[in-house]
Amino acid sequence: MELIFERSRPGRKGFSLPRLDVPESELPSKYRRKTPAELPELSEPEVVRHFINLSILNHHVDKGFYPLGSCTMKYNPKINEETARYPGFTQLHPLQPERTVQGALQLMYELGEYLKKIVNLDAITLQPAAGAQGEFTAISMFKAYFNKKGERRKYILIPDSAHGTNPASVNFSGFKPLTINSDDQGLVDIKKLAQVMNEEVAGLMLTNPNTLGLFEKNIKTISEIVHSKGGLLYLDGANLNALLGLARPGDMGFDAVHFNLHKTFSTPHGGGGPGSGPVAVRKILEPFLPVPVLRKENGKFYFDYERPDSIGKVHSFYGNFLIFVRAYTYIRIIGEEGLQSVSRAAILNANYIIQSLKDYYHLPYPEFCMHEGVLSGKNLKEYGVRTLDVAKRLLDYGFHAPTIYFPLIVSEALMIEPTDTESLQTIEEFIETMIKIAKEAKENPEILKSAPHKTPVRRLDEVKAAKELKLRWQK
Ligand SMILES: *Cc1c(COP(=O)(O)O)cnc(C)c1O
Repeated sequence: MELIFERSRPGRKGFSLPRLDVPESELPSKYRRKTPAELPELSEPEVVRHFINLSILNHHVDKGFYPLGSCTMKYNPKINEETARYPGFTQLHPLQPERTVQGALQLMYELGEYLKKIVNLDAITLQPAAGAQGEFTAISMFKAYFNKKGERRKYILIPDSAHGTNPASVNFSGFKPLTINSDDQGLVDIKKLAQVMNEEVAGLMLTNPNTLGLFEKNIKTISEIVHSKGGLLYLDGANLNALLGLARPGDMGFDAVHFNLHKTFSTPHGGGGPGSGPVAVRKILEPFLPVPVLRKENGKFYFDYERPDSIGKVHSFYGNFLIFVRAYTYIRIIGEEGLQSVSRAAILNANYIIQSLKDYYHLPYPEFCMHEGVLSGKNLKEYGVRTLDVAKRLLDYGFHAPTIYFPLIVSEALMIEPTDTESLQTIEEFIETMIKIAKEAKENPEILKSAPHKTPVRRLDEVKAAKELKLRWQK
């Protein structure tokens, strides 16, 4: 496709202004550029067509099924976009005095209350801009908590199935990660945990359901072991789409949890807006929350900056506000019962897929899964086919690929998360396609190895793409 710069013609414009009815005056020369900015010059329809055509080349939730495990690529309801575009929200300035933005503060406050209720914890910050930053925020609060108590704990425990952001957040927060291996059922090894948990360990970071899609059924025991040595328990809340209205992390013993509003609460990932990773905590961690903390007194909302033990700010101003509007809309519209049916549908959809495919792909952990499940393509190796080839072939059939090669403890992993927003028809089309691909692997492996055939670009050199990142057009 032509670049927008190649389409540009000098002097072409996408706007027209009415004739001046005041005397023309020039900007003083010190404020003027010496050389014109290198921007493309196009008409409005050319700009619109350019970006619409680009959007068609890529896969997205508005185009087709997106079973990317761990990412909860659910459909983003359009009503979220409608409320996020109300001028009363879009025209706000973050420096406006509190008394002029009471409605916006009320929305943030109520969103916080809903999120706290969903996980049954006591206090919250909406500031972090992603799950990973939520992890960093919470683990930094763990650090501040132990510093305040005069304890110099060094380590945070992380299961070997954890997401890569977990050890990264631990390092950034000034602890060292210690890995604990899963048992043969894919769960935290309780005996191991009891051996390694001691007074040098600040806590455990856990994903529940874990990244194999399995519920950590020993969570009560895990919590007892960690707390008995004075440690804290952190929930990586990326998999909350399995728990809404069914189980509350606060009841399981977690002291802190992050939310990914762009996963569980139907706000866009990336292109349609930034992310958001609020963090809810138990009372004992409240003093360490980032400043400012939003409070309500006599029906008025205000920001509290008088917090001597706070870890400080983690985001400019208050977080990604228009994302809060979208998540708030979602929660208000589907309500308490709706949230419960979200998780029930997500769990049902995942199990239907995994059970339908287990005769065609290896199923490493046969337990029923929660909202996502992990298969392995290792049974296709005998035909010279790898999981990567299956993923690429799916693109030819108009599906986004599942997450592959994660979690690391499953060889040739295929991690499938259908979410709650797909119809039975779509789910069955996906199952049929996966079965078809497994048959192709046997009968015509070359077609998989050379896939994709129908996408705008074929196989990309992913290493080169990551190492030689080009984000800017140059002549
Ligand atoms: C997505 C995810 C994260 C990180 O969240 P971001 O919002 O992408 O930063 C952490 N842990 C798990 C298990 C995830 O799936």
